[in-house]
Amino acid sequence: MDYVYGPGRNHLFVPGPVNIPEQVIRAMNRNNEDYRSPAIPAMTRTLLEDVKKIFKTTSGTPFLIPTTGTGAWESALTNTLSPGDRIVSFLIGQFSLLWIDQQQRLNFNVDVVESDWGQGANLEVLASKLAADSAHTIKAICIVHNETATGVTNNLAAVRKILDHYQHPALFLVDGVSSICALDFRMDEWGIDVALTGSQKALSLPTGMGIVCASPKALEASKTAKSLRVFFDWKDYLKFYKMGTFWPYTPSIQLLYGLRTALDLIFEEGLDNVIARHGRLAKATRQVILFDFSCDFFRSSPYRKYHTLNLKCRIAVEAWGLKNCTQKEEWYSDTVTAVVVPPYIDSSEIVKRGWQRYNLSLGLGLNKVAGKVFRIGHLGNLNELQLLGCLAGVEMVLKDVGYPVKLGSGVGAACAFLQNTTPLIASRI
Ligand code: PLP
Repeated sequence: MDYVYGPGRNHLFVPGPVNIPEQVIRAMNRNNEDYRSPAIPAMTRTLLEDVKKIFKTTSGTPFLIPTTGTGAWESALTNTLSPGDRIVSFLIGQFSLLWIDQQQRLNFNVDVVESDWGQGANLEVLASKLAADSAHTIKAICIVHNETATGVTNNLAAVRKILDHYQHPALFLVDGVSSICALDFRMDEWGIDVALTGSQKALSLPTGMGIVCASPKALEASKTAKSLRVFFDWKDYLKFYKMGTFWPYTPSIQLLYGLRTALDLIFEEGLDNVIARHGRLAKATRQVILFDFSCDFFRSSPYRKYHTLNLKCRIAVEAWGLKNCTQKEEWYSDTVTAVVVPPYIDSSEIVKRGWQRYNLSLGLGLNKVAGKVFRIGHLGNLNELQLLGCLAGVEMVLKDVGYPVKLGSGVGAACAFLQNTTPLIASRI
């Protein structure tokens, strides 16, 4: 039997790659085309314009690159920096670790600022480094907006504030792989110089397209940056942009049509509504896992007058009583939640059991948190009832592996929250 497709649906809750909407799958189900015909450049022009909206930039220049997030990292670094350049980079989990490894292998002089896994970037250290750098030896700040391994979201506005406070000219390079199109992201307002994402995350496309957006300052830096680059050289793209043909090499026609439809769906829902939906699904997930239930949704809910203290208490008692890997509320991620399991349980058993018994795909704990956490990805094309299916599955798996959970407890808590907060579907009003 095919493990993914039969019977019923696979419940894909890894934090990327994520579910692809049917409309996108259908849009991509087409023959190849001549990318030099007038049709593909015409479509590319609209894609380049529209993709800027998900970065919230008007001044940025986007590049749609046949690659993954890892290639997008390399594009950001090699186009803006020279070997030996000093950069400050925050290590808070597996993906920031991998980016730092790439930075070191590309021969940058990396000043690593490390935090415990579960914490956000240590911005006090950044401030002290910038304060001590009146000679401006630091050429770039590299930060992962949303660390997918631990479910930690860093505060990019705060980074910009610190850079401005010290009037420091370092480039601000941001990995938005598991944030862009799902979390609040404002490239222009936060003065981000290079932002990047991968198609398989919140855009809900297949893997294979890295989307990189460069500020005018980053484009300027690329004119003197000496890092060796060939495939990722922005210069080649810009040459073809000027000619109006757009592609220095063969794009995936199917992915371009997929991107067109993915963007249309996002704009139809409204980017702000997409972001709010991610917030809602993430809050529902957090409430289910937490023992120490935070009731802030009661305060913000338009239905608050209908809530009773009784309901609050019931949810608090009946949640699963597990810990969030993310150590402070200010870092909670709205795209992925890493759930810490008790020491007598191996979290990879939870992932294995979910897959074997319930056709549920959860994220493994990676590296330092392997065996200690499992991850629930709640990003991309996803709705409330899908999430409830996942939470029901996790509840059953927890019971399977010997964790004393009351079946229905977490799902009940999530239902109570979602029933109070889910808006009508805009297109059906
Ligand atoms: N950055 C983050 C935050 C990620 O979550 C990932 C992958 O999950 C990557 C970078 C690497 O992306 P890719 O696997 O597409 O190369």
